[in-house]
Amino acid sequence: MRKRQGILIISDGLGDRPIKVLNGMTPLEYAYTPNLDCLAREGSTGNVYPIAPGIPVGTDVGHMEIFGCDSDKYYPGRGPLEALSAGIEMKEGDVAFRGNFGTVDEENIVIDRRAGRIKDGTAELAKALSGMCLEDGTLVLVKELTEHRVAVVLRGKGLSAAIVPTDVGTANEGVRLVVPHPENPQCEEALKTAENLWEFTKKASDILKDHPVNQERIRNGLLPANVILTRGPGQLSAIPSTAKKTGIRALCIAGDITVGGIAGLVGFDYYVQDSFTGGFTTDYMGKAQKAVEAIGEGYDWVVIHVKGTDLAGHDNQPLEKVRIIEEIDGMMGYIMNHIEKDRCYIAFTADHSTPCEAKDHTGDGVPTIIWGPDVRRDKVEMAGEAYFMEGALQNLKARDIFALQMDLMGFSKKRGA
Ligand SMILES: [Zn+2]
Repeated sequence: MRKRQGILIISDGLGDRPIKVLNGMTPLEYAYTPNLDCLAREGSTGNVYPIAPGIPVGTDVGHMEIFGCDSDKYYPGRGPLEALSAGIEMKEGDVAFRGNFGTVDEENIVIDRRAGRIKDGTAELAKALSGMCLEDGTLVLVKELTEHRVAVVLRGKGLSAAIVPTDVGTANEGVRLVVPHPENPQCEEALKTAENLWEFTKKASDILKDHPVNQERIRNGLLPANVILTRGPGQLSAIPSTAKKTGIRALCIAGDITVGGIAGLVGFDYYVQDSFTGGFTTDYMGKAQKAVEAIGEGYDWVVIHVKGTDLAGHDNQPLEKVRIIEEIDGMMGYIMNHIEKDRCYIAFTADHSTPCEAKDHTGDGVPTIIWGPDVRRDKVEMAGEAYFMEGALQNLKARDIFALQMDLMGFSKKRGA
């Protein structure tokens, strides 16, 4: 079978709805996008559902589906994904938690779930705890996230995520820390995990209360971060490697470390450099150049992720969303000018919609294009949600778009003789 390459740009949260200040257009319809228009004119287009019509998804689930992975079956839960986004390399069998640095009194009554919204010094606190070895040999990895947030991973034999951890939720202040326990008292693995988590929590508090960061906080009249509250347990099970399943060698270029982590879970390589941020401003051209370079190095599929469109949606900044879409159009122009067009497909999609007026993810279809010299052309002439309703890619889901790209590139396996 003939093999070709492909580049996919994912504009996070791109999909939108008609907006008054944009004369009733969406940001994609309103933006000046000569390159995306060209791809739309020469390729297949449509509004594609991340999972199903009307079902909003998170960035994590959306990317699993775009990468050809069934999130219903394999979504590992928030704990492992937070750990991945903290940069912890997860192994099969690890149990991970999302956590907070919090404040408790001597009776373990929770005074503040966020330790006075601690910002500084959390890296030092996490470092003082990470690498702790528990009595049964289980290893604990701890890594700070933004502000008061932290990721905790238990690594050992025979662990289970089916436990009630120390933090039951936002109504926890003024009540005593929960002693971790198994959801099912008969489950030995869960019992062992709960005991491990409690041992860690107590030892962590002993270390934290005398830590110089906390001594200084107390001197300055701030609440000490003297406990780690954990919630959202999840266990990393074997996620089928998309790379192995299809035989593609893929690279994901993203400033957003969660997206990079998910790419790693499905067997893709991940590339980031300092100028590639997951923010409003990122090195758009640098990402496009890196993608073209990777195609030159022989990667079969290169995915570029841009976060800014989602942030602009959450902040209800339609004009900022328009500006970022125009930057993406510039990336497309660079890519179109620097690849061998008869050997490389180009696709464009989003992980979900983040309409500006909704300020949150919605279950709308996301604008999608697949372009290549032999891709079927529909009658669509312009890039935009309204135009794409006339396109060829109708009633499809993110995983269908993945499959279509793999088939074009020659990586789909024939069924039957
Ligand atoms: Zn997203």
